Amino acid sequence: MTYGTDGELAMEKGFESVFPIDGVPPSSASIHLRCFKHLKWDMLAELKRLEQPKGKQNYIVRRILGGEFQGKRLKGLVDVEDGEFDKEWANIQKELPPAFSEWMKSTKGRIRSHMETICKCMLKSVRIHAGLGNPPNKFNNQRSKSTNNVVKEEAMRKETDQIHIHELIEERVVEDQRDELIKAIGCMGKYRLAEDFKGKAVSPSKWSQMTTEQRKEYTKKVLHMKQQNLGPRAQFACDVDFMSVPVSKCDLEDLPSAVVKDIWAQANIILEKYNVIQLENATFCVTEFDQSYTVKQTALTLYRCCCKLFMSTDGLCQHVVSVAEKMKALLEFLTHYREKKNKASRVMFQKVPIDAGEKPSSTRRINFSSFHFSWEDMNSIN
Ligand SMILES: [Zn+2]
Repeated sequence: MTYGTDGELAMEKGFESVFPIDGVPPSSASIHLRCFKHLKWDMLAELKRLEQPKGKQNYIVRRILGGEFQGKRLKGLVDVEDGEFDKEWANIQKELPPAFSEWMKSTKGRIRSHMETICKCMLKSVRIHAGLGNPPNKFNNQRSKSTNNVVKEEAMRKETDQIHIHELIEERVVEDQRDELIKAIGCMGKYRLAEDFKGKAVSPSKWSQMTTEQRKEYTKKVLHMKQQNLGPRAQFACDVDFMSVPVSKCDLEDLPSAVVKDIWAQANIILEKYNVIQLENATFCVTEFDQSYTVKQTALTLYRCCCKLFMSTDGLCQHVVSVAEKMKALLEFLTHYREKKNKASRVMFQKVPIDAGEKPSSTRRINFSSFHFSWEDMNSIN
């Protein structure tokens, strides 16, 4: 279990009595991360109380918590390797007002001294182990979506009962986090599954091709959840069709529906995971996996791409669709595309003898085999 607190004594005691930490991982079963910002504010307040000049206050905080200067990360005590901690602390202590040094070592009104907290809850190795990357990010629980903020935002200035608070937390915090977790299973959204659970992740292209029902089943399996626990909103979270015109309403009957579905799925992934950048001269750069495609705007709401799929569909691929969506012109683009296509097929029909058999458009077969997967693959996980 990894959890973070702002250093409030009751919270720290409560958590640690249920999920004890025993120092630096990997020996510890649980990790308690301590908020950088709250400790920074505490330290600044103490330094101010000790009448230290402002420049010195900031310098000391930077020596301990690290900082940033001209876009570069300056290492602090929290960034040293485990074995170097005592040496670095001895170095820093030489520059500290003795009273501040004592304050850092004091356990008065705390679960442990700030020094020990830095060692057990903030040090580089602890944060790496908690999954904050390497080099690890600082941990802060001052995010705007924190429980505290959600409750304050919703309930402040109003008289509120406990039931309402519980509902609020369920809806705005618990369900919100679960939605992010569901997205992470499909490698979407802003989080990814931790190293130990990577095997349960589904690639974005597979994820987008699964039906909502399949995603739901898979999610329940991964999260070991029963049907009733998933809740009505989770269903929505599984549905990753972010496009303003859903694939069911795009009205592109000329093209095989599997191809259209693929294009929408891939455009979804581009918009969610990769990038569409507007360059000069009505040109866009669309990144997909490790490739980039150039899309040119040829009319107000019409685009041209350099990829093979675009050629074979006479103007439709995930790249132009994501650009149109990004420019908030997907509906207009589709109308324009259909008109152009209708005109073209009328011309073609006029040239085709009446007994020529199938419609010209049905002779075009697009190979999209690289994105196929079987539902059995999904079920093979335990
Ligand atoms: Zn393309």
